Amino acid sequence: MKMTQQQYPSQPQYAPPPQYPQQPFAAPQPQGLPLVQCRFCGSVPAAHVKFRGHQGMILLMRFLSLDGPFCRDCGLATFRKMTARTLVQGWWGYASFVITPITVLINLVKRDKVASLPAPQPSPTGGSRPPMDPGPPLLARPMAIIGLAIPLVLIVLIFVLALTSNG
Ligand SMILES: [Zn+2]
Repeated sequence: MKMTQQQYPSQPQYAPPPQYPQQPFAAPQPQGLPLVQCRFCGSVPAAHVKFRGHQGMILLMRFLSLDGPFCRDCGLATFRKMTARTLVQGWWGYASFVITPITVLINLVKRDKVASLPAPQPSPTGGSRPPMDPGPPLLARPMAIIGLAIPLVLIVLIFVLALTSNG
């Protein structure tokens, strides 16, 4: 009887990480540590963060939220989009006028959690896509600038109306 000795093919100890843009589908491998992947692109690392939005509609209002996990770039993209929208859509109601700045402050605190993540990498378990473009910073967006001016304009308008009505 012939004994055959089989050896595992030698593998490089540190395989180079897969690179964008081409990512073949790979079967998920069991990992020692639970891997948190971005909900949008599957990249790692990702942080569990919830960003919020608010819409005031005079008598009605809407609370919006988007749960992570987010990688750094998708998280910043989500933060900027939701916060800029809130700054424009948030102010339009009595309660909303108070809720909107709180929502923006909460998002600013949460932003640090994704902004401090390292650059997104393809997940070793596969299935990840290139992350979102974070886009321009919040204060470089016309929507955010207009949104920040809205409460000032509203306050000035209320003063003018109060002064000119019957007085
Ligand atoms: Zn992502």
